[in-house]
Amino acid sequence: MSASGTARAVAVAVPAPLYTAFDYEVPAGWAPRPGMRVQVPFGRRSAVGVVLEEPREVPLAERRLRPLAQLLDDAPLLTAEVLELARWCAAYYQHPVGESVATCLPGPLRGGAPAALATRRAWQLTPAGAAALAQIPPRARAQRALIERLAAGPAEELPEALAATARIAMARGWVERTELEDAPVAAADPASAPSLTPEQADALAQLRKGDGFQVDVLDGVTGSGKTELYLQRAADVVAAGGQVLVLAPEIGLTPQLAGRFAQRFGARVERYHSAMAEGERAQAWLRARAGRCAVVVGTRSAVFVPFARLGLVVVDEEHDTSFKQQEGLRYSARDVAVMRARRLGVPVILGSATPSLETLANVQAQRYRHVRLTRRVHTIAPPAIRLLDLRGQRLKEGLSAPLLQAIGRHLGAGGQALLFINRRGFAPVLLCHDCGWQMPCPNCDARMTLHRARARMVCHHCAAQAPVPVKCGACASGVLVPVGQGTERIEEALHAEFPGKRIERFDSDRIRRRGELERLLDDIRSGDVHVLVGTQMLAKGHDFAGLSLVGILNVDQALYGADFRALERMGQLVTQVSGRAGRGTQPGEVLLQTHEPQHPALHELLRAGYGAFCDTLLAQRRTLGLPPFGHLALLRADAPSAAQAQAFLADARRALPGAQGFSALGPVPAPMERLGGRFRAQLLLRSASRSLLQRTLSAAVPGLDALPSARAVRWSVDVDPADLF
Ligand code: ADP
Ligand code: ZN
Ligand code: ZN
Repeated sequence: MSASGTARAVAVAVPAPLYTAFDYEVPAGWAPRPGMRVQVPFGRRSAVGVVLEEPREVPLAERRLRPLAQLLDDAPLLTAEVLELARWCAAYYQHPVGESVATCLPGPLRGGAPAALATRRAWQLTPAGAAALAQIPPRARAQRALIERLAAGPAEELPEALAATARIAMARGWVERTELEDAPVAAADPASAPSLTPEQADALAQLRKGDGFQVDVLDGVTGSGKTELYLQRAADVVAAGGQVLVLAPEIGLTPQLAGRFAQRFGARVERYHSAMAEGERAQAWLRARAGRCAVVVGTRSAVFVPFARLGLVVVDEEHDTSFKQQEGLRYSARDVAVMRARRLGVPVILGSATPSLETLANVQAQRYRHVRLTRRVHTIAPPAIRLLDLRGQRLKEGLSAPLLQAIGRHLGAGGQALLFINRRGFAPVLLCHDCGWQMPCPNCDARMTLHRARARMVCHHCAAQAPVPVKCGACASGVLVPVGQGTERIEEALHAEFPGKRIERFDSDRIRRRGELERLLDDIRSGDVHVLVGTQMLAKGHDFAGLSLVGILNVDQALYGADFRALERMGQLVTQVSGRAGRGTQPGEVLLQTHEPQHPALHELLRAGYGAFCDTLLAQRRTLGLPPFGHLALLRADAPSAAQAQAFLADARRALPGAQGFSALGPVPAPMERLGGRFRAQLLLRSASRSLLQRTLSAAVPGLDALPSARAVRWSVDVDPADLF
């Protein structure tokens, strides 16, 4: 408290579902700075917050502020750049600022753990020790061995025989204990960089053109050498002293990308993803911040990792929807990456074999550059995709005769086959033959899926489980038939069809334990696995040289998906999955089973290719005012009753300021209204103008929690939703 009737106050972002920062009094002599963590009293609890701004003088009389309890950092932990990025995200995604800032910190740091780089104790030679080497008589073998060993660099561990010698040498002042801060930097492997194909060389020249912020869309089929170009651009940046951020959809699933960076850049590559232990993740974060690594390869949340000298951002598989966070701060890591690069003035590469419509629209508007790779590095011919008309065909567990023949043919020729089906488990429905009953999930508007291997019925929406019923739940009939196919059933059918061949399933049921994925991937690469049956987990960036046949079993669902992005996703999936075929020396073949061989979208995709297919979809989106030409936000609510959820959204709708060019559709029940025992409803907000949508949301969203009807619901706002469910 100062005599002049003012106090020093500082704004702190406290992780709480509230849209404002909170002011605290700064005790005399304290110097909080933006980005430092502070312990603060918050309601009845104590919380770790982050200082948002420089302290300022406030009139004492205005209100009484509670004082900061503790400064947790000596210097700002969050860099100004990341702090501003978090605030931008809070505003854009309409999320409480404290939670948004907390999202940028790895768990332990969020909880207040000291921000210290791990150090390791090691033995090190002193200058006196180095000078002593010449005087040590040859017969003092242990001493010589010790000094020679340490002359090569500090050692964390010494052989048993030298440890005692080291203690004696320490007493003489020849060696000392030290703290090593850095992981040893293994030498990069410069020989591993291949010479580029002419097409790659052209693309690299384009990527190198210009400087500062620039978005390049690296559009190239699977196997065309995109990753090699990321590596080369990264090498440019690293050679100039910069750091590189590489975002990938799921590193846990595709260790290859991080592996290739590690191969090229050695130990200067950090991984950052949710399968890592929290402490490891915090260390990676701190090393990037301290400029101690060259490259961070990470998933979504890595977009908030602070860097000392970020010089390039790469987003691999930029179309992948797992870049969109589906809870809390619902950010798109791709979009935030572009925003971050723009603010920093550094280039971005968005890579994909199937760029999103958003990205292609930016190319058409000439905001992004289009860099193409049209040829595969190793095999020249792209896979031939053929439609298999299922109408009137007799199917064996969903597999048509021509598909089975093709599998036999490829296996006979020493190839491998991959069958893609979008459903795990044995059968999606267990149906009563007598009355048509299907086992419902007790919590959701959904059927339970039969998992025969585990002998369970499982709800794929809320994970509820039940024993497999032996009798119909309605008429007690004992005749229950599994209807439809999942990965388990296809696997079983293939075992019967191709005895003696190794058939493997590749889905989240099969790959549960750590290490299992790597083992399976190794077996596939070595050719031990003949047929692979998997879900979209398989579509993600795996590189199987021996794969010659890809079968897509049920594309029809996607043709009639309820979501406006269903066709875009179908096109991406078909293109990505078929890109898995023929990457080695064998030419690829792709067979697509469908009951809709005349479907115009499917036809265009196969005849004219993904680019032309997207042009058509973009024209449709433009006509309909859908993204990327219109902008959406989805307000979701769930409650114990449908009426409560709808009442809240109706109130929310009234709270939104009306404006020309802005519309609200709903509230309506969500496509799956009951999920996990709660009723869900949604209100779709739409505008042709992004800024109008933003203004409208900003005017109303912070006040929604104060609505009386908000008490009964859980609600969230999703700006640029990835889907409308
Ligand atoms: P993408 O990322 O587009 O799928 P990659 O960069 O992974 O393509 O390249 C496909 C395969 O070709 C990889 O095994 C890669 O190591 C190899 N490759 C890429 N560029 C070259 C090149 N110029 N010379 C030889 N091999 C290459
Ligand atoms: Zn029945
Ligand atoms: Zn359920």
